[in-house]
Amino acid sequence: MIRPAPLLAAIFLSLAPPVGAFSPVLPTDNEALFRGKSDDFYMFTDRDFEGRKTFPWDGGTYGFSRGPERLGGRIVLTKFHEGIDIRPVRRDAAGEPLDDVRAIEGGKVVHASHEPRDSNYGKYVVVEHTVENTPVFSIYAHLAEVDVVPGRQVQRGERIGRLGHTGAGIDRRRAHLHLEIAVLWNDGYEHWHNTHFTQPNKHGIYNGMNLMGLDVADFYLQQRRNPSLTLPQFVSGQETFFRVRIPDSPHFQLPRRYPWLVQGDIAGARSWLVSFTSAGFPVSIESSPESTGEPLVEWVRPSKIPHAKATRSLLDGLPGQPRLGDSGHKLMQLLSVDPAPEPPAAGGM
Ligand SMILES: [Zn+2]
Repeated sequence: MIRPAPLLAAIFLSLAPPVGAFSPVLPTDNEALFRGKSDDFYMFTDRDFEGRKTFPWDGGTYGFSRGPERLGGRIVLTKFHEGIDIRPVRRDAAGEPLDDVRAIEGGKVVHASHEPRDSNYGKYVVVEHTVENTPVFSIYAHLAEVDVVPGRQVQRGERIGRLGHTGAGIDRRRAHLHLEIAVLWNDGYEHWHNTHFTQPNKHGIYNGMNLMGLDVADFYLQQRRNPSLTLPQFVSGQETFFRVRIPDSPHFQLPRRYPWLVQGDIAGARSWLVSFTSAGFPVSIESSPESTGEPLVEWVRPSKIPHAKATRSLLDGLPGQPRLGDSGHKLMQLLSVDPAPEPPAAGGM
């Protein structure tokens, strides 16, 4: 009689992700990330710095990967890229990319934007996933074709569109999939948008400015090494670059939406000490009994780079004297914006 090999079964089980866990697959056939072939995985950017044109693949990575500036004696990348740019692996004779784009994990399509000019993302899709009962989003941008409509449930690996080059600052040569894994800032996005922009918001709460992307390639790589790694565990391992104390308010939704970010008691909080990465992704939120009237920067990691350049202007100020910068003030407003402000009182009697 042939018996199943229990040891092999045990090894297989230990490599499989826990049932119901957020365990994404790559969104296209390009798997060079897992072979360590970064230049085959990432789409290059066009760099023109001090009269020299280059095409660095690392411009397609997440983080401060763009916008070189000479600061003091060093060249510092100051422009933030919120996702990863994945190269196509198949093109037709005319050079048009043919790669299928697939949902990285099961979930529900919540937004599909078909008009390329409505966003820098071009045609894009947002899928909502459930991670420890909280909403986490994947964003697929610059698509040539969108196959899905909002409300559709998709399986992990199911086709949702075709890779393309729609959107701002991209052409056929640089066709790629821009992928993000993101958390949502605030349901009141529309109100915040209308106070800061004259162009109407065509994407509801799924505007890219309301979705904050994490270091997606690092998550794939870490989870490949450790299949039981959860997304909340990954986030808690990110490096804190600065902390802001934020007054409590019913409109500060982040700790309510993502309890896995929270340390301490939600009910007793009068303010929240929020730890952010240098790009502004929230790493943790600590409940505090102290009051504060307005958001205040409490700490920043010492760095030779000016605060504004190291944090895409989330912070500003002299070394050792950090304060919120332009983008930081706007972000703090968004984090606590009232989704349904009182209409102005009707005038006259
Ligand atoms: Zn991109």
